[in-house]
Amino acid sequence: MNQDNRLTLQHVTKYHRHQGRPVCILDQVNLTVEPGEFLSIVGPSGSGKSTLLRLIVGLDTEYQGRILVGDRPVTGPGRDRGIVFQDHRLFPWMTVSENVAFALSEEERRAERDRVMHYLTLVGLQDYHAAYPHQLSGGMAQRVAIARALVSRPRILVLDEPFGALDAFTRFQMQQELIRIWREEGTTMVIVTHDIDEAIYLGDRVAILSGRPATFRKTYRIALSRPRDRTSDDFLLLRRAIHREFFGAVEPPFAYSI
Ligand code: ADP
Ligand code: MG
Repeated sequence: MNQDNRLTLQHVTKYHRHQGRPVCILDQVNLTVEPGEFLSIVGPSGSGKSTLLRLIVGLDTEYQGRILVGDRPVTGPGRDRGIVFQDHRLFPWMTVSENVAFALSEEERRAERDRVMHYLTLVGLQDYHAAYPHQLSGGMAQRVAIARALVSRPRILVLDEPFGALDAFTRFQMQQELIRIWREEGTTMVIVTHDIDEAIYLGDRVAILSGRPATFRKTYRIALSRPRDRTSDDFLLLRRAIHREFFGAVEPPFAYSI
């Protein structure tokens, strides 16, 4: 595996301003994502997951600590990192293939005419290259967003609750598709989700970001073979362990005295 695809966070601390005062959101976050690894991050709403991803992709450069891709420090946005958000953020006036091509330079578009088509085929939308975003379902639009994020061949792809707005059936399908794409492309992937099942289904590891300020409290290695069976005993055991970590042990029912 290419060591340049490793993502490293060292002592990353981030303050946001709230009512004029600095508030520590992330405190001394350390993380290594190995080349080609798929990491899932789960955490309560407001724990700083999106803040963390924005730092990784360089959309926010005000932080303390170090973020490295390979051995290169992150100082801003760059083509070595791609991001997919919960909403597709496609340009409504551009076709599907124009939206994907937008991530490329003029020269790249000229030099590799079939590159956009390769990525549209990868996400299963080759027949929709001339469609406009309003003609797509939510799941299809997210596929285009994934193609657009991958077309510049990033070393690292981060996804911020990418399937959160989709119905359960489409979400399952997209999770399977994402695993196929990850295997074909070999990209290092980091997904943020509040869905514990999704985190276990996708990740080689599941890291829990929690606390105020937040840090990684616990990481689970998911040693289940793929494709994963969400109803297998091993899957459910992990699910239970992570739920308990998150919400604490559930009080047994009827434990109160009468
Ligand atoms: P999550 O994605 O885990 O739900 P966020 O990273 O979006 O959480 O937000 C973490 C905390 O930082 C929240 O309390 C949020 O209100 C605050 N926050 C996020 N972005 C900003 C910002 N640009 N300015 C000030 N506070 C922010
Ligand atoms: Mg968020």
